[in-house]
Amino acid sequence: MKFDSVRRAFSKLLENDELSARQLFLSAGVAVDVSEELAQEVKKVGVSTAVQERLKSLEPPSLDDLISKKERPPYVIVFFGVNGVGKTTAVAKVARLLSKKRYAPFLVPADTYRAGAIEQLSMHAKALGLPIANSRYGADPASIVFDASKRLRGVARSVLLIDTAGRTEVDKNLMDEMKKLVRVASPDLRLLVLDALTGNDVLRQVDGYGAAVGVDGFVVTKLDADKKGGIFLTLSRYRKPVFFVSFGQDYDSLEEFKAQDWVSAYS
Ligand code: GDP
Repeated sequence: MKFDSVRRAFSKLLENDELSARQLFLSAGVAVDVSEELAQEVKKVGVSTAVQERLKSLEPPSLDDLISKKERPPYVIVFFGVNGVGKTTAVAKVARLLSKKRYAPFLVPADTYRAGAIEQLSMHAKALGLPIANSRYGADPASIVFDASKRLRGVARSVLLIDTAGRTEVDKNLMDEMKKLVRVASPDLRLLVLDALTGNDVLRQVDGYGAAVGVDGFVVTKLDADKKGGIFLTLSRYRKPVFFVSFGQDYDSLEEFKAQDWVSAYS
């Protein structure tokens, strides 16, 4: 994969044509602040080092280490994100990846709001042969999470994967419900799921969820459909890791993010 707009933007920077570079970065979904910083960095250290440093800042800690460091299972991961970004699918794929590593993932459908959400996660659980918590529409998501945590308490290698309702960060009631869920679940990892094609709205989503519930890291989806690559450069401004990348519809099309794998797409 080659992110052509970003590569052309870098060429323009090397020709000292900052205006064209900025336009190309913008069209690739790179946040404006980041494209200005990149212009400075490229002048100082060159394209390759600038890209490597940016991507390196996204490298996640080892999830195995994080899970094994937790004294009392379950390890709790909660997934946030606006509707349609691929959150439910990501929950299923991460569960699959963990089960291949001999963990005991347990799915929690805490989206009790959107019609079809519980069935969607149940369908994934069935297809993957993985357990799922009981849930019902209209129930308080916090209480579903509470019950699931209790049930898994002390179960070796157990990991709770909580799917939440997709919502806009401006929806106050639903955000309050989410805050309550976070208080009750006290998650070890709060992951924000982002569609690679989002463009500049990434900033609003990260800032909105960050302020409301806190974000420890990211999952970037739909990279199979993204030819721009701005998302990683934009995310590098937050100094938070990308834990997973998703690049397709099937369950195995999700990997832990490795910065080095992406360097050649940019330079
Ligand atoms: P949610 O509303 O955030 O829970 O989103 P869903 O998990 O329901 O996914 C929305 C749509 O995006 C579905 O049609 C998924 O199959 C699709 N999708 C999810 N991840 C990917 C991906 O990595 N690549 C592609 N091409 N499609 C994806």
